[in-house]
Amino acid sequence: RIVSARATAGDEDRVERAIRPQKLADYVGQPAVREQMGIAIEASRRRGDALDHVLIFGPPGLGKTTLAHILAEEMGVNLRQTSGPVLERPGDLAALLTNLEPRDLLFVDEIHRLSPVVEEVLYPAMEDYQLDIVIGEGPAARSIRLDLPPFTLVGATTRAGSLTSPLRDRFGLVQRLEFYSEADLTHIVDRSAGILGAPIDADGAREIARRSRGTPRIANRLLRRARDYAEVRGDGTISAAIAADAMQLLSVDHNGFDLMDRKLLLTLIERFDGGPAGIDNLAAAIGEARDTLEDVIEPYLIQQGYLMRTPRGRIAGKLAYQHYGLKMPDKLGM
Ligand code: ADP
Repeated sequence: RIVSARATAGDEDRVERAIRPQKLADYVGQPAVREQMGIAIEASRRRGDALDHVLIFGPPGLGKTTLAHILAEEMGVNLRQTSGPVLERPGDLAALLTNLEPRDLLFVDEIHRLSPVVEEVLYPAMEDYQLDIVIGEGPAARSIRLDLPPFTLVGATTRAGSLTSPLRDRFGLVQRLEFYSEADLTHIVDRSAGILGAPIDADGAREIARRSRGTPRIANRLLRRARDYAEVRGDGTISAAIAADAMQLLSVDHNGFDLMDRKLLLTLIERFDGGPAGIDNLAAAIGEARDTLEDVIEPYLIQQGYLMRTPRGRIAGKLAYQHYGLKMPDKLGM
């Protein structure tokens, strides 16, 4: 069982790599991001400079890692990848930086989780391509300065608000990824299905797109499940009906809300009388970490107007009541 579980994970990994776009031209949607990055890439290439540092923010699965890989590919440089929590000590970052070749790209995922001491090292590295490191301890300690090759730092974060301003100010390009439209997601599903060799019709692609919470990673995952379902229960083609049945099996409703969305909205309505409910109380009530709630579950519900974030807490929107067929209470003063 372990072997087969691993084989499946490896398989999904391979599929994931195959469908991840490699070029800016294949990056669907996000027109403003594509245009700005296209110009920045072209200009740096002509000058032979490293691309300016780029900060990408947006909820999980919207294409931050994909964009970082595309930037390296389009610049024709290597990409080194790490993440905020992995860089525990300044030496960890120094090791990465000193191994870069000129114009290479260093991708730091979850950059809002860098420790303050590591962040300090990053400032002169980003600004002047210099590294100040302390060797030894106590009275014998001394600081040396190393020159680094010009490089590009690409930072990704789910929370722009958690970044310190000295760090944010050192990025020359700041890109915010938006949730994708149904049309863009349909395009992504079609493209991925083509690469997978999975037959799909136009309604099938739209059905999956509609239920993907505005998120390409979810669209691709639902596509793989619909493909399995079509092969086992259907004739192999993903039609709207096949997609709908497959989604039902996964408890993904016609809006794309899954069990967690349902739990969050119904708990808020039924246990907290629609709110306002404090985020910590809400997280405890549904048994999820506060971070998961804030980073993964809430952003789409808020963007779609099902949930409101107010200074007094979370409030269920009218749409949430309608969605679950519940009557909104008349509250005085609301
Ligand atoms: P993030 O780093 O923001 O969590 P990823 O870059 O890992 O998200 O994207 C998740 C998956 O979604 C990728 O594997 C890729 O196949 C797909 N994807 C993301 N953005 C796009 C896009 N703009 N066009 C096509 N596919 C995309």
